[in-house]
Amino acid sequence: MIPDSDYFKQARKKMVKEQIRKRGVKDPRVLDALLTVPRHLFVEKSLQKEAYEDRPQPIAEEQTISQPYIVAAMTEWLNPFPESRVLEIGTGSGYQAAVLALLAREVYTVERHRALHLEAAERLKRLNFHQVICVLSDGSLGYEAAAPYDGILVTAGAPHIPEALLNQLNDGGVLVAPVGDRRHQRLIRITRLGDEFVREEGTPCRFVPLIGNQGWPEK
Ligand code: SAH
Repeated sequence: MIPDSDYFKQARKKMVKEQIRKRGVKDPRVLDALLTVPRHLFVEKSLQKEAYEDRPQPIAEEQTISQPYIVAAMTEWLNPFPESRVLEIGTGSGYQAAVLALLAREVYTVERHRALHLEAAERLKRLNFHQVICVLSDGSLGYEAAAPYDGILVTAGAPHIPEALLNQLNDGGVLVAPVGDRRHQRLIRITRLGDEFVREEGTPCRFVPLIGNQGWPEK
């Protein structure tokens, strides 16, 4: 097994200090998770050395693994607790799911591309993230089978917050999603308080589109 080394550990330390703390992410649990998860093992071998740079990286199926800072900022905003059950929409490489797995009790992650789903599931198992359950389906409809969730994190850009996801939030639960047009979005946080949904706006961002029933059409 490789897979970690002093080289990559140093790269993670630098990433957390210069890209994440500097931009204001403070939660020590989040910083620790970003220091721990071997991000270079979530990208293709030829890109491993670039994995800790301050930008998203390409993965298969024309998708991307998000920029480290965005992963940290979204995770801090979601604020999962050790007892939380969390749903992620958009498994991609599985990196964000691995970060969540260090902070929550159970993580469900949904992906629509079979190849990405299979690869991420295999990778998370190999790296011992056994508390992550990978699901192949249209995540714009959430994942009813394990609802309700204390946290829902959407990692693909949506035209609006999918109604199905709001319905799968626990009372007190929090949803974080990028919402906007196909190319530009803003992070939105919704907190469910009984029948009320409190909405806050966060930082501008750019995600690949959420494609599906309550997302964008395929083309
Ligand atoms: N969280 C990922 C990066 C997400 S990229 C990581 O850490 O690597 C966005 C992902 O959302 C892509 O893999 C894309 O295929 C997926 N996606 C887009 N629409 C989706 C949908 N309706 N349901 C599930 N996954 C979707």
